[in-house]
Amino acid sequence: MKICVVDVGTSSIRSAATDGHRLICFRQQHTPPDRPEPGLVEFDANDMAAAILQTATEVVDEVGGVDAVAVTTQRGSAVVWDRKTGQPVGPALGWQDLRTVGECLGWQAEGLWLVPNESATKLVWLLDRHDPDRIRDLCFGTVDSWAVWCLSQGACHVVDPSNAAMSGMLADDGRAWSAAVIEQIGVPSRVLPEIVDSTGVVGTAAALPGGPPIAGIIGDQQSSLIGQRCVLEGLAKLTLGTGAFLDVCGGPDRPIADKRSSRGTFPIVAWQEDGTIVWGVEAMMIAAGSNMSWLVDDMGLLGDASESSAVAGSVTDAGGVVYVPALYGLGTPQWDFGARAALFGMTGGTTAAHIVRAVLEGVAHRAADLLEAAEADCGHRIERVRVDGGMSQNPVFNQILADALGRPVELCPVPEGTALGAAVLAGRALGQWSSWQEVADSWSPQAVVEPRAAPDRQRWHEAVQRASRWYPELSDIGL
Ligand code: ADP
Repeated sequence: MKICVVDVGTSSIRSAATDGHRLICFRQQHTPPDRPEPGLVEFDANDMAAAILQTATEVVDEVGGVDAVAVTTQRGSAVVWDRKTGQPVGPALGWQDLRTVGECLGWQAEGLWLVPNESATKLVWLLDRHDPDRIRDLCFGTVDSWAVWCLSQGACHVVDPSNAAMSGMLADDGRAWSAAVIEQIGVPSRVLPEIVDSTGVVGTAAALPGGPPIAGIIGDQQSSLIGQRCVLEGLAKLTLGTGAFLDVCGGPDRPIADKRSSRGTFPIVAWQEDGTIVWGVEAMMIAAGSNMSWLVDDMGLLGDASESSAVAGSVTDAGGVVYVPALYGLGTPQWDFGARAALFGMTGGTTAAHIVRAVLEGVAHRAADLLEAAEADCGHRIERVRVDGGMSQNPVFNQILADALGRPVELCPVPEGTALGAAVLAGRALGQWSSWQEVADSWSPQAVVEPRAAPDRQRWHEAVQRASRWYPELSDIGL
């Protein structure tokens, strides 16, 4: 079976043909978002559509046709377009865009907890500017909705629950839009897409050669979770890209937290099949690989992120240096936007290699923080952690990570599991997989790294304490 997966990321759009196990053919276009002012992140939805259609068409042509198309996307962004013309009403707003902070604080005062990276807040912002009287026939979509609309040439206006759940407008059971929320924020229900299963044929990709069925729709982290075969309760993956996301597969019961838990994790919809949701838990590190970029671009300590493995491996330990990777604050479990990165313990004789190693150790300690929070919130001990993303290409880091987690780390057979997960969902819709157990059994890691020596977690917690609340006024913002 050949499936074309369209993966719409934040800074690039990738299309790949896959059999669900490996990538056969791959095309990528870089589409960095616009940052018109600090805190604002926009993109041109027409440019995005063009890149989706061009990369996917090239892939489908190269492999001589596909059996199905699947879509996996960044999750919290918002596009609004005119239903008749299909034209976006303005720039689309990226998930990192912070322009709705003021509105969120206002809604919080009214008892509605929304945060700027939930797409509902961006939808309201766009409607207020382009349809203040709410009389136009407009469509709202997260990026998956927009991609499917474009692939189906306007025939399908849908969203899957893994993306819809990041909007802030889904009811607690994950099944429908919350009438109470959309009324409170002033969103007419007619603009919202129909919520469909993550796996199942929703329409035809008429824009692609051969018009293959669109059979899988899923958010990017959930796709990586499924791609790394974490499809049974308690299985977990950690994606180490610019930031890092630890996701744990749950079961049919929604995790207890309504939104963010007291340990700083989030309930997620892992996927939906035949109307039944599989829930999960997500923990987030704001800065992971970006610490490497900081060492390369800002500090000039490395020529390239990949050098960090050899440099850190040239010393046996960090020489007493501890680094807290809070470049942009801390995510799970603290959610302290006023924390800042800190280096402790330097002395005469501390070298660049010690610092590079300390940075890798700091990211690994943060991963252990995420694991502890997610385990407590999902109620399972996570026996092994599967890893993908840019930092997982670093052998020295992978050992440091296994040591910090105290669990075996299993490396994904492809650098990013994202394309594989969406393909599993489409394959499942077409009968490729008879059961989720069969999907789970097909996991074959590239390598397994066993933990050796446990690091000093107490020293780490002391360092975090000192880096916390560096800007107390930012720490006090309750978003
Ligand atoms: P994203 O999908 O978020 O763009 P990627 O998964 O492509 O991220 O990973 C890119 C990040 O990983 C960058 O921040 C880069 O600095 C870091 N990175 C890439 N290769 C390595 C490596 N060998 N060791 C450590 N960090 C790396």
